[in-house]
Amino acid sequence: MKNTPRPTINRRGFMLVLSSPSGTGKTTIARKVLELECELELSISVTTRPMRESEKEGKDYYFVNNEIFSQMIAKGEFLEHAHVYGYSYGTPKACIEKLLASGKDVLFDIDWQGTQQLKQISTGDLVSVFLLPPTIQALEERLHSRAEDSLETVQLRMSKAADEMSHWAEYDYVIVNHTLSESIQIVRSIIQAERLKRRRQIGLARFVNFLRGEE
Ligand code: 5GP
Repeated sequence: MKNTPRPTINRRGFMLVLSSPSGTGKTTIARKVLELECELELSISVTTRPMRESEKEGKDYYFVNNEIFSQMIAKGEFLEHAHVYGYSYGTPKACIEKLLASGKDVLFDIDWQGTQQLKQISTGDLVSVFLLPPTIQALEERLHSRAEDSLETVQLRMSKAADEMSHWAEYDYVIVNHTLSESIQIVRSIIQAERLKRRRQIGLARFVNFLRGEE
């Protein structure tokens, strides 16, 4: 038997997009999946929305004013950007390609407009998941229970929910968020399956050649 070291199977990462109407539980699901999955990094967006009390600069978002956001657009620093619920949000380009090439997957908590933009540039690296609430009441309750947003903000987000939901058919996977634990498990299953896609396992040919050499 030969003593050649077994090659690891290199993989190209993918961009995992989670979208949903506000209040569906997407951010909670995303945080938990990030905690449980190694090799998954969060893309931290830039926004002009005011910071919520529970949020931290650089962990939840990079919070900037309109002027800085416009400068970032002008310098081409965003992979995608959109106006959502009255504020600007964008995904900074820096690091994403490097992460994908090194076999890391990147999770994006972005809306349907951003997903459409990523689709145009992704060349097969995009996996998109849309979350739906089990009922409209559940969505409303969740928005109200997040005591950090004003009534006005809650009303604006509720009024946009139907519009947001109309984009479900543009996504690869659709999950109805009946319970958080079940949805977290489903998202993890999607990640496992997507990691096994043959075209992402770019080191497979080398591995199979190695196996054949062992015969
Ligand atoms: P929130 O203000 O509740 O954190 O986010 C509001 C909405 O903006 C959510 O649907 C969220 O997914 C979306 N969002 C957050 N960051 C980005 C981004 O970088 N790009 C786009 N297109 N949407 C974003």
